[in-house]
Amino acid sequence: MPASRRTLDRRTLLTAAASTTALAALPRPLRAGTRSRVLVLGAGLSGLHAALTLQEAGLDVRVIEGRDRVGGRVLSHRNVPGNPESGATSFAPGYARLISACAAYGVGLVDLTPIFPFFLQRDLYLGTERVPLSAWPTHPHNPFPEPLKKLPPWAFLGAVVGPKNPLATNDAWLDPAHAALDVSLHDWLKGLGWSDEMIHIAYDIGPGTGDSARNVSALMTLGSMKFQQVQMELARGKAMSYTAVGGNQAIPEAMAKALKNPVELGRKVVAIGADGQGVEVHCEGGQRYRADHVVCSIPTTVLRTIRIEPALPATQAKAVRELGVQTISLAHLATKRPFWEDDGGAASFTSDGALALVTAERKGSDPKQVTSLTAWLRGAHAARFDRMPEAEARAGIVREIERLRPAAKGQLEVLAWQSWKNDPFALGDWAVWEPGQVTAFAGVVGKAHGRLHFCGEHTAVSNRGMEGAMESGERAALEVLQSA
Ligand SMILES: Cc1cc2nc3c(=O)[nH]c(=O)nc-3n(C[C@H](O)[C@H](O)[C@H](O)COP(=O)(O)OP(=O)(O)OC[C@H]3O[C@@H](n4cnc5c(N)ncnc54)[C@H](O)[C@@H]3O)c2cc1C
Repeated sequence: MPASRRTLDRRTLLTAAASTTALAALPRPLRAGTRSRVLVLGAGLSGLHAALTLQEAGLDVRVIEGRDRVGGRVLSHRNVPGNPESGATSFAPGYARLISACAAYGVGLVDLTPIFPFFLQRDLYLGTERVPLSAWPTHPHNPFPEPLKKLPPWAFLGAVVGPKNPLATNDAWLDPAHAALDVSLHDWLKGLGWSDEMIHIAYDIGPGTGDSARNVSALMTLGSMKFQQVQMELARGKAMSYTAVGGNQAIPEAMAKALKNPVELGRKVVAIGADGQGVEVHCEGGQRYRADHVVCSIPTTVLRTIRIEPALPATQAKAVRELGVQTISLAHLATKRPFWEDDGGAASFTSDGALALVTAERKGSDPKQVTSLTAWLRGAHAARFDRMPEAEARAGIVREIERLRPAAKGQLEVLAWQSWKNDPFALGDWAVWEPGQVTAFAGVVGKAHGRLHFCGEHTAVSNRGMEGAMESGERAALEVLQSA
């Protein structure tokens, strides 16, 4: 990562933390005078935040979007009670840019603190055996050493590695001094003395990132853990986390409404050509756009299918081609009756089978009331379901819950299904930095290519998820303003 970009990011992070945009930090002549036509590709959070920052600076901005909706990987199901999320689920009080956007564009926040104790009430299924958390410390398949056997599998990595995280700051994952950590999480944990069984149960049954600990860089995992730790510190004394009133999709919707030029939907970009004068963008429907600068927020998985001329430099092109991506699919289910009251288990559960997590959503006014269930499939299990026709995948989820919990028989209906791998405008979920990819690609993947600028969560430095997307949009807008 070039030093200038990292310095800029620290400055913008602090500026945003004071609930203002980075615009305030720009020199006066740029704010007052310069007008330039900028085209933003993609109306997810990063593209919308870039567009609004540029609009605020007085530039003429247009946003085009391939889907028939804005929000990208923020997707709330308005057809399911409580508007559960298939994309970004929640955000913490330290998401300064996102929370500023909510305040600026009139989006209310729902404090999830009252729901949090319910979220922790989960059973573990090993095969079809239900293991209540009270039985886990003495269970014969608990591979953790004493005195850590009492930790639930999903809390083990954070509890053990978190306090010893060698990364001191959010952006330290990009520091060449830590390059030796750019190996597989599996190898790194083995080096710490973890057994294969410990890695399997603590990571691989529900991989946070990657398909398993073998195909994610330890450096990425430690970077994400640092980000989460900082978020927890920033949340102290405040809410645990939030969603937006009406579902998180209300945030990009409100941002899009604040644009002077409405987002043009149904514009699938297929080619981008740049010359000394500007950039031309071609869409599948034959539409062409020309702009002085283009900000591209398209994820690498889709970007690699788009012709770019002149071609990106070799390493950046390789980064776009090869950067890993998370496999994740979700089903949202209605329940006719609370079957967990019949089998005596917790409503939510983790399993070592296809269902990494089934979580009981509590999105009504009473946190005791379950409004729907969300089934999360990750890694190879998600990939297997993604290969099925959708009806078969939906039926398969119901069968799997019924297999583990016979009391659920006949009680479930899938109301929504989202496979991010099969979504043509995502082709996967968040960027996964595989072993060796942080050192090989992180410094180049988001680099401007003449008048073509890049944003998107995969180009974020100090933040992850939604706040990473916002950070990246802000950085790309500042790049345009500094070169306009
Ligand atoms: C299941 C899930 C859970 C998550 N949980 C959280 C969470 O709890 N907290 C959190 O902070 N983050 C979470 N995230 C991550 C968060 O949603 C993303 O990091 C963020 O929304 C990414 O924003 P973006 O602007 O970078 O990309 P996107 O939202 O993907 O935006 C890119 C846009 O480009 C458009 N596009 C793609 N191809 C083309 C094309 N050819 N032509 C035109 N337009 C195109 C897309 O349609 C999209 O609108 C989660 C994501 C998922 C899927």
